[in-house]
Amino acid sequence: SATLDQLTDWVRRFAAEVHEHRDELTRLDAAIGDADHGSNLDRGMTAVVAALDAEPQPSAAALFKKVGMTLVSTVGGASGPLYGTLFLRVATSAGEVTELDGPAFAKALRAGLEGVVARGKAEAGDKTMYDALSPAVDALDAALADGDPLAEALRAAAAAAAAGRDATIPLVARKGRASYLGERSAGHQDPGATSVTMLVAAAADALA
Ligand code: ADP
Ligand code: MG
Ligand code: MG
Repeated sequence: SATLDQLTDWVRRFAAEVHEHRDELTRLDAAIGDADHGSNLDRGMTAVVAALDAEPQPSAAALFKKVGMTLVSTVGGASGPLYGTLFLRVATSAGEVTELDGPAFAKALRAGLEGVVARGKAEAGDKTMYDALSPAVDALDAALADGDPLAEALRAAAAAAAAGRDATIPLVARKGRASYLGERSAGHQDPGATSVTMLVAAAADALA
């Protein structure tokens, strides 16, 4: 299971990864978008960390609601509402608790994925964050069903996310700015699939 401290550490680790890889994310977005994905997410997650430093959150719902609201209000573009909705749905699913067991964690992450779909209408193969997050959520469910502890199941989820991220390279984008490029979007890794892989990897690290 995941304690509130570990869930908070997840958020902080994601912020640190985004900060460290900010230029890489922006480079990926320069190839098929408008060169702002790294700066967008780094601005948002820096604001999230500042908010958590100012006021520790008392429950999983409060923590993820703070993350989602902060991202919605500081990021903008496509990724602000998408990541914002992801975290707000995670918050609602998690509830006012201070610990999530494996199934509750997996249910919350799936709710987040469904929020992304509700917002952006992405389907498999559209070359978006969905293509990394969806296989990660499926792998998490499968590993938990096999009886793996949550920490181990999250490692499997992180590997599935990375494979999904890599598989976006040959795809032609059908959603977001990259879709304006048509066939010319092929041959480039999707920035949102890259950042959401960092999100799943950060969960595995926080619970290790
Ligand atoms: P913007 O495109 O507004 O500049 P960002 O550069 O921050 O926003 O984010 C771009 C990323 O958002 C893409 O790489 C893609 O993964 C994701 N994205 C864009 N549109 C959608 C959508 N409709 N559904 C899911 N993800 C999307
Ligand atoms: Mg962009
Ligand atoms: Mg933009």
